[in-house]
Amino acid sequence: STPKRICIIGSGNWGSVIAKIVGNNVKDNGNFVTEVKMYVYEEMINGRKLTEILNTDHENVKYLPGHKIPENVIAIADPKEAAKDADILVWVLPHQFVRGICKALAGSVKKDCIAISLIKGLDISEKGLDLISNVIREQLGIECSVLMGANIAPEVANENYCEATIGCKNREMGLLLKSMVQTPYFRIVVIDDEHTVELCGALKNIVAVGAGFVDGLGYGDNTKAAVIRLGLMEMVKFAETFYPGSKMDTFLESCGVADLVTTCYSGRNRRIAEQVVKTGKDIKTLEKELLNGQSLQGPPTAAEVNTMLCQKNMEEKYPLFTAVHKICKGELKPIAFIDCLKNHPEHL
Ligand code: NAD
Ligand code: 13P
Ligand code: CA
Repeated sequence: STPKRICIIGSGNWGSVIAKIVGNNVKDNGNFVTEVKMYVYEEMINGRKLTEILNTDHENVKYLPGHKIPENVIAIADPKEAAKDADILVWVLPHQFVRGICKALAGSVKKDCIAISLIKGLDISEKGLDLISNVIREQLGIECSVLMGANIAPEVANENYCEATIGCKNREMGLLLKSMVQTPYFRIVVIDDEHTVELCGALKNIVAVGAGFVDGLGYGDNTKAAVIRLGLMEMVKFAETFYPGSKMDTFLESCGVADLVTTCYSGRNRRIAEQVVKTGKDIKTLEKELLNGQSLQGPPTAAEVNTMLCQKNMEEKYPLFTAVHKICKGELKPIAFIDCLKNHPEHL
């Protein structure tokens, strides 16, 4: 079949790593066109446009400094222009921005185009809580697979061995997407349970915020292990309750326990939550001060989940998710998180 054109939607910390991987992989793979387009949210850096820096110096100096992005990756500031010829859209933006970009793209993507979402988060609208992949499916009328895993971006950029999971209902399509991203140091397993893969990626960020709180409180690794365990129990319960048919095996893939563990030790959500406790500053302030334009997904995901749980009167069934949200909002003190652990229904 004719080689597929790829457009990467997003160019942050993870987006830039994926641009490096995909840009290199397509060079010797007849399935894909060698030129890869990348939608870049434009900004000025020392008087130069980020797109111009990317297209001349081939480095994302703000979001992934110190790593070259291959020259066949072309940065474009207009999402419609970037995506118009694409057969495959690789979504890798903070989830807060997905609806805005979908609006910009509506009606202009190829009708047989497919998507893969690397986005960890959920969507809340008048219709209720939903998967980000469903927003992409509905807004653009296209198929959408997902890729999630234990993938702290700077470690993947350094080519340290890691794994990820592609969730895709169509086996052939899943293998095509795998050939787009797999490398010797980035190993991919394709499974069909796409909703659970995506839920794992979204929900673990809430747990990671809780892990950061216990770090900030000076509790040790036993406490953090308890946070990871209780958080995992809530993730499983959430999947079973709201996405019946979810397979428990999926939690044993990279997208499940592995991503939960790495994020609770090394992620941005953990780091900022620790600082909330240590400095008493709020999350928005710390995100601005410490992340240089990068975005946290845990606090907004906790809020999205909480909105739905409140509507269904189920807040107390997910005490860890609920406590994380209330501490993020300043409605509870961080120390209350320890009481939440002590009184968790898993040991009543
Ligand atoms: P990031 O946290 O670096 O976010 C910054 C990006 O958002 C920049 O490209 C910025 O230009 C863009 N942006 C800012 N305002 C915007 C707007 N109004 N519209 C569109 N874009 C805007 O992003 P990231 O690390 O690439 O994360 C993207 C997704 O990938 C997230 O869901 C994240 O959870 C997931 N993820 C991240 C990592 C990681 O280690 N960074 C690993 C795996 C998955
Ligand atoms: P953070 O956003 O907390 O850094 O997590 C990154 C991630 O998803 C690792 O797989
Ligand atoms: Ca398995």
